[in-house]
Amino acid sequence: SKPLFNKTAFVTGGSRGIGAAIVRRLARDGAAVAFTYQSSAAVAEALAAEIDAAGGRALAIRADAADSAALTAAIARAAAEFGGRIDILVNNAGLLKLGPVAEFSLADFDQTVAVNIRAVFVASQAALRHMGPGGRIVNIGSTNAERMPFAGGSVYAMSKSALQGLVQGMARDLGPRGITVNNVQPGPVNTDMNPESSDFAAGMHGLMALPRHAQPDEIAAMVAYVAGPEAGFVTGANLMIDGGFAA
Ligand code: NDP
Repeated sequence: SKPLFNKTAFVTGGSRGIGAAIVRRLARDGAAVAFTYQSSAAVAEALAAEIDAAGGRALAIRADAADSAALTAAIARAAAEFGGRIDILVNNAGLLKLGPVAEFSLADFDQTVAVNIRAVFVASQAALRHMGPGGRIVNIGSTNAERMPFAGGSVYAMSKSALQGLVQGMARDLGPRGITVNNVQPGPVNTDMNPESSDFAAGMHGLMALPRHAQPDEIAAMVAYVAGPEAGFVTGANLMIDGGFAA
């Protein structure tokens, strides 16, 4: 009943939204879970305490994903506290900057690349120092890698498309080590980034086979599957969980 018993996991951006749901789910499945946040210290510590109180093991670490030294140090710290191993890495931290390409600032472009792409590479390298056969790397991409039906999303879509190539290539590199690498691509999910109550929600729902937002737990369930022992043959995959947004 605890498929991740004796496993250790590291989740970036675990304080809120999809990341917090992933942290809760992996902990419920038996993993010891370390997770990062950028600024929500109180929320992050409360989540770690909630998991500890339920008999699990969690560790909240402040580390800006754009700061490669801080992110690498956070992973080394988690590995040290968890007996030297990181079995599961979930690259979830991400940001959404919208704007027309003609006016999009270079600072926002660089920040998007730093958090949504570069940090995935940095965290993967750091975690691989502590990952053995059976290891799992799971990225949170987006359905926008396949379909960007609105204006203003070019840089965000680019950042999520980049993860597709990274995942496919990394799967080839790491197959011989018994490590799988996958990309979970959600459609609209009810979080602070994309509340189901926003003015944009109806426009998104109009494009979908299932006209609603997902709840974060639904995304966490797919991550738990890909991170778990039954998914050993799934690698290099870009897995849609988008209510048919891109269908
Ligand atoms: P939220 O904005 O609701 O939560 C973001 C989480 O990431 C928070 O825990 C935040 O920490 C953390 N975070 C943000 N930036 C950094 C950073 N630089 N360093 C460390 N942690 C950071 O986002 P969602 O939960 O909605 O999104 C999570 C992922 O899912 C993202 O990659 C996003 O692109 C992707 N996604 C989301 C969709 C949606 O509709 N919501 C759809 C498809 C993909 P803190 O609390 O400290 O700010």
